[in-house]
Amino acid sequence: MAARIAVVGGGVGGLSSAILLARRGFEVEVFERDAPPPADLADVQSWPRPGAPQSHHPHVYLGLFRRLLRENLPDVLRDMHDHGVDELPFSGIRGPVEPGDEDLVMMAARRNTLEWALHRAVAGESRIRLHSGVSAQLAEPVDGVLTGVRTAAGVVDFDVVIDATGARSKVGQQYLETVSEAECGKVYNSRFYALRDGVQRPPLQHGSVTVVDGLGYGAALFAHDCGVFSIDIGRLPEDEALKKLRDPDAFDRVVALFDKFAPWFAAGNATPISDVVPMPGLRNVLRTLKPDAPRGYFPLGDRVCLTDPTFGRGLALALAHAVRLAETFSTADGDLTRLNARTTREQVEFVRPWFDDVVVQDVARTSLWRAAVKGESWQDLLADAPPNPFLMIDAEEHDPELGLAARRYVSMLTRTVDTTEVYERIQAIMELSEAGEQAASTAPTYTDVLAALDA
Ligand SMILES: Cc1cc2nc3c(=O)[nH]c(=O)nc-3n(C[C@H](O)[C@H](O)[C@H](O)COP(=O)(O)OP(=O)(O)OC[C@H]3O[C@@H](n4cnc5c(N)ncnc54)[C@H](O)[C@@H]3O)c2cc1C
Repeated sequence: MAARIAVVGGGVGGLSSAILLARRGFEVEVFERDAPPPADLADVQSWPRPGAPQSHHPHVYLGLFRRLLRENLPDVLRDMHDHGVDELPFSGIRGPVEPGDEDLVMMAARRNTLEWALHRAVAGESRIRLHSGVSAQLAEPVDGVLTGVRTAAGVVDFDVVIDATGARSKVGQQYLETVSEAECGKVYNSRFYALRDGVQRPPLQHGSVTVVDGLGYGAALFAHDCGVFSIDIGRLPEDEALKKLRDPDAFDRVVALFDKFAPWFAAGNATPISDVVPMPGLRNVLRTLKPDAPRGYFPLGDRVCLTDPTFGRGLALALAHAVRLAETFSTADGDLTRLNARTTREQVEFVRPWFDDVVVQDVARTSLWRAAVKGESWQDLLADAPPNPFLMIDAEEHDPELGLAARRYVSMLTRTVDTTEVYERIQAIMELSEAGEQAASTAPTYTDVLAALDA
């Protein structure tokens, strides 16, 4: 008889795992503390999601996520397309892309829209029982083996428990230890807007995103489905002055500084549809199982690896974990409970390069911002900074190959562009165009932002 599997947490990693496992013949029960989405996509913006507060923030869908969805959950991808989710090219190449680069696109969707589509796929699976509005904890292990989950209604026995409870959860924390941790150095402030009916989406700079690479702050505009778009402005955690971004009028005054965003607001074409929502406390965290963790406990997604959302990697890593776990379970012989130590180690190894790379980028960006806010020289810091992929893309007219490498790397379709040759080529471009200074100098200054906040 196939193992009975509990999934605690019905977010992106949990729902994907449940669908993939059910389709491989497993009986799965999902416990999700929040209510299910509304049936009609038109109502999804107001779906309350206290268990996944990042739903109030922009999500970008990188090439790796799209590839994993296309290969493993094609019906979910199709359903999103059928409901107005466009794929915006990120190849930078006119004409056909090379084999393997077909995923150089970004899906323009709200996060709620993705979860809405996942819920529809779950509803079609007879092997999944979804318990919505039910918070679950882990049951007590017996003889070193987890025996199931505990809800307000009592203990339910399962052979295996998947912990997909996300970033802020305390579920299973007694069995997890931190491998590495570092600040993201950024507080998100996000606001959603809707384009007036019939208004065409203005062009974007990078796939579904247009970036303002400021110094001391950063901003980005994200296209989503159904005429919705969102803007995020990031600040340093300790920056008390930029806390005023929480005020919607002040936020919109800063937004008005960004020429790149102006086409979205021309002729009164856009209306805000949310408050400004801050997201403090962001950290890069990598966790693994403690040696004495009970068998049968399988953490995945954000329970294992949290990376700065600026890089948009979390969804791809959570889906990759779900795919890997489903493959492991379906090809294993006998007792699944014994697989958790090795499987979690492999999940950690898989995400580790993506995690380490974000930390390096965050350290560099945070020190640039800190210098800019203090009015200190930041130019000297550029020499030691890792390659900035967006500058490489901006400079691709000088070196198209480097631009393509950067696009693949931003999309997570290749692991790294961090080679000596790449460094040398970046240096050549920097000398040609002084790209770093140019990019920063086209963005409004930190002082401009302060003035707009106080106007
Ligand atoms: C501000 C912000 C912006 C982001 N932007 C991007 C982006 O642009 N691109 C990207 O790829 N990633 C982004 N991410 C990361 C992405 O949201 C996460 O990596 C992804 O959701 C992880 O999936 P998960 O399944 O592990 O957790 P989640 O999707 O968070 O799901 C966890 C689920 O568990 C439920 N839960 C928790 N505790 C319990 C319990 N005890 N019982 C039952 N249910 C429980 C919660 O309600 C929730 O539904 C962003 C994150 C943040 C914070």
